[in-house]
Amino acid sequence: MHIRKLNLKNFRNYEKLDIEFSPKINILLGKNAQGKTNLLESIYFLALARSPRTSNDKELIMFKQKETYLKGEIVKQSGKFNLELFLNNKGKKAKVNHLEKSKLSQYVGNFNVVLFAPEDLSLVKGSPGVRRKFIDIEFGQIDNLYLHLSSNYKKILNQRNQYLKKIKSNSKLDTVYLDVLTEQLIGYGAKIVHKRISYLQKLENYASQLHKKVTNDTENLSFKYICSVDNVDKDSSLEEIEAQMKAKFAEVRKREIFQGVSLVGPHRDDLKFIVNGKDVQTYGSQGQQRTTSLSVKISEVDLVKQCTGEYPVLLLDDVLSELDANRQTYLLKAIQDKVQTFLTSPDISNIMRDLIKDPKIFEIEKGEVSTV
Ligand code: ATP
Ligand code: MG
Repeated sequence: MHIRKLNLKNFRNYEKLDIEFSPKINILLGKNAQGKTNLLESIYFLALARSPRTSNDKELIMFKQKETYLKGEIVKQSGKFNLELFLNNKGKKAKVNHLEKSKLSQYVGNFNVVLFAPEDLSLVKGSPGVRRKFIDIEFGQIDNLYLHLSSNYKKILNQRNQYLKKIKSNSKLDTVYLDVLTEQLIGYGAKIVHKRISYLQKLENYASQLHKKVTNDTENLSFKYICSVDNVDKDSSLEEIEAQMKAKFAEVRKREIFQGVSLVGPHRDDLKFIVNGKDVQTYGSQGQQRTTSLSVKISEVDLVKQCTGEYPVLLLDDVLSELDANRQTYLLKAIQDKVQTFLTSPDISNIMRDLIKDPKIFEIEKGEVSTV
């Protein structure tokens, strides 16, 4: 799939933008603070109805303005359609082909993007929360049910945590109520874990192939899902995960009441990356950690293709400069002619010149875009 046209009104430093892209490679050039990342952010926002940079949507509205509007024309094998987002201080409105979607989960997933920014190079080295966010965002956009489960899970988790805190402070325990919340949490949580494990196996398959190529066959990459529930592995059925979760909740109940917080579930899980048999977060060099992050992130492109039948749009924000010549070359070869790609950079490097065939080049200056 690709985005053919984009219109923006009062989005970040774009007062008005009306632009047409190449279905292949688009290079966005510009000095610092001109709006390169803002433009990628707008494409990401159009796809996921959330920003990769902030959870406060209001920041996206141009200074001194009250609302912002985005519209994209998306082309798929099955035809083209429009996406529209309106955002003001009251909230968001999302439309697909002029039809308003009452739930954002009905909107997200129509248009898939994979963003790779310098921060993503710390996927391996960062905290477990970084990896959980990666998992939730990526799997949420290819699976509507996953998105739905994780939003419900968060609601129940909040309720349960609040209740545990309340018991902790005034020590009156309504066992039945806590049981109901626990059961609901297990209902959503077990399904999330089950789906995560299944998608991670698919992702691992692509990431390990890619990682082999990037490292000239010297490194073997695999994943290990670290579950807060015992005895859960790749072959566990949903029922087994539920039963194990139930047992674990019973085991930690006293501790949960003492600490006033939920100790079991996908919000406590993590993902480890194993390179040549060793945990790369603990034992890997900085270069190995970055290469692993790159392999995992870029293999998401193939996972989206497998799950939705179409390649997503790839947004590469200033990442080439962060990679050595070998990895840049590998990355550009891997995406060439396969996915619509947006690449931001202060200038065109020799590697880009040698490897990118017929790019469409845009120059960005103070929120205005011109073709070169
Ligand atoms: P760099 O090369 O440094 O990454 P960039 O071209 O990617 O630069 P952006 O992050 O896209 O830069 O744009 C930054 C500019 O956008 C800043 O000058 C900032 O003041 C401006 N900006 C951010 N939010 C808003 C907003 N809500 N309204 C108007 N301008 C904004
Ligand atoms: Mg930037």
